[in-house]
Amino acid sequence: MRRSRDVPSLVAAAKAGDPRAVARLVSLVENNDEVLPAVAAALAPSTGTAQILGLTGSPGVGKSTTTNELVRAFRQAGRRVGVLAVDPSSPFSGGAILGDRVRMQDHATDPNVYIRSMSSRGHLGGLAAATPQAARVLEGAGCDPVIVETVGVGQAEVEVASLADTTVVLLAPGMGDAIQAAKAGVLEIADIFVVNKADRDGADNTYRDIQGMIGLAERAAGQWRPQVVRAVASRGEGIDDILAAIDKHRAWLADSGELRNRREARAAAEVEAIALGALRERIGTLRNGDALKSLATRVADGEIDPYAAADQLLSSLAE
Ligand code: GDP
Repeated sequence: MRRSRDVPSLVAAAKAGDPRAVARLVSLVENNDEVLPAVAAALAPSTGTAQILGLTGSPGVGKSTTTNELVRAFRQAGRRVGVLAVDPSSPFSGGAILGDRVRMQDHATDPNVYIRSMSSRGHLGGLAAATPQAARVLEGAGCDPVIVETVGVGQAEVEVASLADTTVVLLAPGMGDAIQAAKAGVLEIADIFVVNKADRDGADNTYRDIQGMIGLAERAAGQWRPQVVRAVASRGEGIDDILAAIDKHRAWLADSGELRNRREARAAAEVEAIALGALRERIGTLRNGDALKSLATRVADGEIDPYAAADQLLSSLAE
């Protein structure tokens, strides 16, 4: 998009629920378009209060199936739902692999469901910066909740999932997931564990493993104890239990003041990611200019040390 004066009409269309406008705005976020500040400003009055649900787990564990069922349940409750499917390990959108419509076919024609795969193509702050902005777009379009689905159980997923109000981690029997989850620090961010594929052998072991790990973790009084729920998502079983656990967690968030804390932490992460992206960009432009070049020459000649040079560079940015 070239002209930022197109932004108000695009945002207005998205707010009115035009799916093409929503898709366009998410693309702008993915590509870190220069009109994003104007988009964010236009969205700000109608964002910041929707329920953000994080859902993560290894490939094949049943995330799409579970999300599909959760969307169905939220629709039955009359809520408009947004889904962001994020793959931190892939430079391409998850949609390139499966196609958004294929992923959650049941809801493909429902105008009150937005499903969008996302990549961090060209976004300087990476997915950690892009995801909350895309979530704001969906929220601006009236989605509440917004479900952020991430693939895998690694550091990037932990980072993205931690942006949610409530983080649901899916496990399945026989995948060594419980151990893997503990290693990747998922135990710290999970508010709810779902042992999916409970129809399979070994589900009881997985359930016990994860309960054991939760039992070992130190927890201050009044802190949330992660819930563990069994499900057979492919048959729609256990979905009510997942929803009940989400509701319980939401009530705890509100009562304990943690909702506010999480949202402030999320806002801090957003601001930091945007600022770092801007800084990187400005340093990038300096690279082609004289300021960095002359500093580099002086460092190479042993005239000043690289720390002093970096300090000078940063102060020149602030001018
Ligand atoms: P994702 O990669 O985590 O999104 O996993 P999917 O939702 O695509 O599911 C992977 C496969 O597991 C699909 O073939 C599903 O039909 C199947 N699946 C999902 N949930 C269950 C379940 O509860 N039990 C069994 N047996 N299969 C399931």
